[in-house]
Amino acid sequence: MRKATTRPSRSSPFQSREEVAAYTSGGDIECLECGQRLQYLAPHLKHAHEITCAEYRAKWAIPAGVALAGTLLRASHRQNIISLNRAGVTVCSDLRAAADAGRAAPRQPRVEWDIQECTQRAVEVGKARGLPPREQWASNKAKRAAYSLAHYHLKRGNPEPMREFREQWGTPERKQQ
Ligand SMILES: [Zn+2]
Repeated sequence: MRKATTRPSRSSPFQSREEVAAYTSGGDIECLECGQRLQYLAPHLKHAHEITCAEYRAKWAIPAGVALAGTLLRASHRQNIISLNRAGVTVCSDLRAAADAGRAAPRQPRVEWDIQECTQRAVEVGKARGLPPREQWASNKAKRAAYSLAHYHLKRGNPEPMREFREQWGTPERKQQ
């Protein structure tokens, strides 16, 4: 079954998002086990190498969200989904079922360098805003909750909670009282 006519272009796992992006940027995609170029890897991995996509991802450090397909196939999938939606074949309840199926599916193990890159990005975003990410998130959440409560009372004729909100959080609204 296996045709060893070509050699894979690399022999070690990916080290960064850029490397993976370059790998999946072609019209078709290379099988790193044997060097063949294909539209879509899943059936080939199963039949030619007897491994699953998850095993392939783990071996080459490809994050779970990256499609094992070339850009041509991905574009045609997108087009199919758009056509199906236009024709009314798929409806919102299908999306819900798909989301449920996604949540029920077993989690793929995370790729170590991907975790590090994501963590680094979160830290940098926090630095840019002057707060560590978790504090930023907690503070925004508390502020939204306080504002929503104050707004509720204001609409019902009680301005006191909104005044307290402004004392604590400042006045984000354009209109000053
Ligand atoms: Zn192969």
